[in-house]
Amino acid sequence: MSLIIDFHVHASLYYAWYPHLIEWMQPVLPTDAKTFIDGTLTPDGARKFFKEESGLDYCVALAEQSPITAGIMTNDATIELCRAIDFFIPFASINPHLVAEPVKELERCVLDLGFKGLKLLPPYQGFYPNERTVYSLYAKAEELGIPVMFHTGSSVFAGSRLKFGDPLFIDDVAVDFPDLVIVMSHSGRGFWYDAAFFLAGHHENVYMEVAGLPPQSLPKYFPDLEQNADKIIFGSDWPSIPHIKKNIETIRKLPISESAKQKILGDNAARILGLNTEVEQR
Ligand SMILES: [Zn+2]
Repeated sequence: MSLIIDFHVHASLYYAWYPHLIEWMQPVLPTDAKTFIDGTLTPDGARKFFKEESGLDYCVALAEQSPITAGIMTNDATIELCRAIDFFIPFASINPHLVAEPVKELERCVLDLGFKGLKLLPPYQGFYPNERTVYSLYAKAEELGIPVMFHTGSSVFAGSRLKFGDPLFIDDVAVDFPDLVIVMSHSGRGFWYDAAFFLAGHHENVYMEVAGLPPQSLPKYFPDLEQNADKIIFGSDWPSIPHIKKNIETIRKLPISESAKQKILGDNAARILGLNTEVEQR
């Protein structure tokens, strides 16, 4: 048995989402958004939904500091939630424009609170990944040995600035921080699939994550999927994508090798997150 990991779960409670986002996701949810989100983000609800119904072993649980576009679920609120749900792996959110000392906040999140990674959302937070002002954050993440995840590609949320989602700017970060593990969320969704695929193949520590992409279309977006199988990571984008189980089943049916499927569904994420699959399964 190998682990199945969802690398992209928004751990924002209902209050933390702006009304227009709730309105946008409501049509695909099985029940009203407040019940679905707050009912699932409890110890019992999470175990039932993510583990029993969806078949996941772990979820990367994301904080959110995007006051212009999406909402705010603070790092402190996120860690409190993750402490109650033992298979949630917390990733901090730091908006470099909103925090006086981003490096100190990252240290606090990782060393004091126990976060295991950092998520940055350049199109929502208004900066290019290769701006020198954020380099100190990467240096600290590299020193702490935690992965940094970037939103790349499109977003439909009002206030997003898509130019900041071009994966090409991540090339500089990968060159300047060769030991930093970088995860490109959404794999350059929309107009940058080629760039994301190339970067993941080119840089040893750069990964693609496929949250929000229809899994049956992966071979269309990335014709040589198998070639980067070591660098592709499954993610759902819950709650706006609530059918996690169906997406896992679709990946299991893709025309690629069994080992490639397992790498995508869990092995690559487990390696990045330092989860020892051998030991976990005993
Ligand atoms: Zn997301």
